[in-house]
Amino acid sequence: MIRVGNGYDSHRFVIGRPCIIGGVAIPHTHGLAGHSDADPVAHALIDAMLGAAALGDIGQLFPDTDPAWAGADSMVLLSEACRKVGEAGWRLHQTDITVIAQAPKLGPHIPAIRARLAEVLNTDMPDISVKAKTNEQMGFIGRGEGIAVIAVATLVPA
Ligand code: MG
Repeated sequence: MIRVGNGYDSHRFVIGRPCIIGGVAIPHTHGLAGHSDADPVAHALIDAMLGAAALGDIGQLFPDTDPAWAGADSMVLLSEACRKVGEAGWRLHQTDITVIAQAPKLGPHIPAIRARLAEVLNTDMPDISVKAKTNEQMGFIGRGEGIAVIAVATLVPA
């Protein structure tokens, strides 16, 4: 038995915030705005895992009106979502994540992102795929206003 879920997230680039992508601080002129640390890879992956388990979405689990999550490390949220999925009888089988950003260039950081996600999810790097692409200068992503992430995750019985 296998379950599949998808997740999407986007965040706006702003001055004066860190740029955390997949649990890794990426050097960039801009950071990402959000209630938590605004890590779009973590948030899309959380939604993919919750979706596969039919456990709702990240906004229900970690409301952005809750001061407890202000400035939160999204790796803590990811770990908690993983625990919830486990409670429901599932474990992550693999995930494939696409980051869409005009900048920064993510290629050099992908091994570190995969290693960090594997560590937090208590799985192995071959189960974690992270890809990066630009938006060919089109739209809000192409203008460098923000970043988007699409994630797919499969779960198997724990
Ligand atoms: Mg988000």
